[in-house]
Amino acid sequence: MKPSIATVSLSGTLDEKLEAIAAARFGAVEIFENDLVTFGGAPSAVRRIAAELGLDIVTLQPFRDFEGMPEPARARAFARAERKFDLMQELGCDLLMVCSNVAPDSLGGIDRAAADLRELGERAAKRGLRIAFEALAWGRHINDYRDAWEAVRRADHPAVGLVLDSFHILARRTELGAIRAIPADRIFLVQIADAPMLQMDYLSWSRHYRNFPGQGDFPLVDFMEALAATGYGGPLSLEIFNDQFRAGSARAVAIDGHRSLRFLLDQLSRRLGRPAAGAPVLPPRAQVSGTAFVEFALDERAAGSFETMLAGLGFRRAGRHKSKAVTHWRQGEVNLVVNRDKEGFAQSFNLLHGSAVCALAFQVADAKAAFERATLLLDQPFHQPVGPGELSIPAVRGLGGSLIYFLDAAGPLARNWEVDFVDTGEPAADAGLLRIDHIAQSMHYEEMLSWVLFYTSLLELRKIPPQDVPDPGGLVRSQVIEAGDGAVRLVLNASQSQRTLSSRFLSEFAGSGVQHVALATADMMRTVARLERNGVALLPIPGNYYDDLEAKTDLASERIAELRAHNILYDREGEAEYLQIYLRPFEQFFFEIVERRGYRGYGAANAPTRLAAQQRLAQR
Ligand code: MG
Ligand code: MG
Repeated sequence: MKPSIATVSLSGTLDEKLEAIAAARFGAVEIFENDLVTFGGAPSAVRRIAAELGLDIVTLQPFRDFEGMPEPARARAFARAERKFDLMQELGCDLLMVCSNVAPDSLGGIDRAAADLRELGERAAKRGLRIAFEALAWGRHINDYRDAWEAVRRADHPAVGLVLDSFHILARRTELGAIRAIPADRIFLVQIADAPMLQMDYLSWSRHYRNFPGQGDFPLVDFMEALAATGYGGPLSLEIFNDQFRAGSARAVAIDGHRSLRFLLDQLSRRLGRPAAGAPVLPPRAQVSGTAFVEFALDERAAGSFETMLAGLGFRRAGRHKSKAVTHWRQGEVNLVVNRDKEGFAQSFNLLHGSAVCALAFQVADAKAAFERATLLLDQPFHQPVGPGELSIPAVRGLGGSLIYFLDAAGPLARNWEVDFVDTGEPAADAGLLRIDHIAQSMHYEEMLSWVLFYTSLLELRKIPPQDVPDPGGLVRSQVIEAGDGAVRLVLNASQSQRTLSSRFLSEFAGSGVQHVALATADMMRTVARLERNGVALLPIPGNYYDDLEAKTDLASERIAELRAHNILYDREGEAEYLQIYLRPFEQFFFEIVERRGYRGYGAANAPTRLAAQQRLAQR
């Protein structure tokens, strides 16, 4: 199957779209007629640009309201088609995509549709052209691919074939079994789109919410498995209508699109137990067993007070880098790296963002394989010179230009701390922090789908249903991606309001990035006592919160008094309990500390209180 994308999926002018599509290494494109109409040059210029970029034009689309028209509208529809054929010949494209009729005056009947398609096919064939018929989910008479196939079958003409569009089929939850019986040479085009499961009319759902495979909820691998049974090897074309994509950068969206197709074909190969037609051969998604380290980029002055805070949190300065101004801090299984080097990646990251998380390192089963998969998914590799004898850790670009490193337990990467760092031998006085519980990243609303795809295509992580969290400045969409056993949990936050904490982070941070890291303790009371003794400043929680807690829970008043005394937030799901404290922010970043007692969520019920408290602090 040949990766393709419809120009309608991207922003920009037609020539900009074609360049973005070629840069994302697609070999084929569907030309959306509107893009041609608004283009400044002749169709022959589009033909030349596409040829120079190495793009096949697989179809011109869409041709609407054709089949089943009564006269004289029928004759006009054929005349319209002849003009499209002229245009296609100028474009150098041999396939016209016809979608099923929605016109109120159109007439039903499979035989009538078949006769019209046959006649159109006959006219197309005279010019060496073909037509392909698609059932729109909201077609007036034909809205099911099985009926469209029956019309194509009865048309019985070599220039008449079928379009299968995953959106129209899966939105109606049409059974997929009938696809398997369609001969591959009768399928002229396959269009692919995913979408979130929504309760709305098919037309609005399709026009605004389609997204790339893996970004929505549709069972696309099931669809692909049925398609694979036919032996189809033609174009596999993304046709995405999505307001965010049309507002975003054409280049970035095109790369996301190609990544999504590669990921889909990879999933299909794994389902089939053999390489699917046209599928790239990728190492499997990387199993993530934890966050190996979090790296902070700081300047000299900020690094001093940041390290004082780490010491207050019970971290031990475990090592100093052999050749760079970098320290390693450890507590339990948590490893933090403080980078105050005056050159290199971290320094430029710091210049742009201030004190910030500049890299996340994931512990994976095979770091080299994870990096190879990333590269084959068109993720952006990162290399930086290292000193003699030092480790070169495989890395790709992550959110907001930060880095994602891969470490594993085999070979030299397993000895990362010993190879690159000298043990300080400094003593420890830990505060009971055990591991990283979750990492929260703030991003622009339009970026959310992109990073969901990035993480889930590369790593063995799954999406849990998104939540909308109320912030004093508006709603924040929160999407959790986690490893099955909770070893890694990423919370992606975005908001369309400019006034939420999540949005203010973006403007003050000058981009998307890690907003907070939550560390886990098994004994919140012990941890909070240690922090208070060390003089660590916690986020003050207003008394009203505890009055409310008293009213809505059956917690003993001594217990509530204890929570109140230490600024601890509390949540419960059945018998499961969750305790949270927040540190005061360090520039745009803050730490959270949590204790989970069988609890699986993230304290969404407490988020409004916490966000309001942070806002009060910011205003002071
Ligand atoms: Mg379509
Ligand atoms: Mg949190």
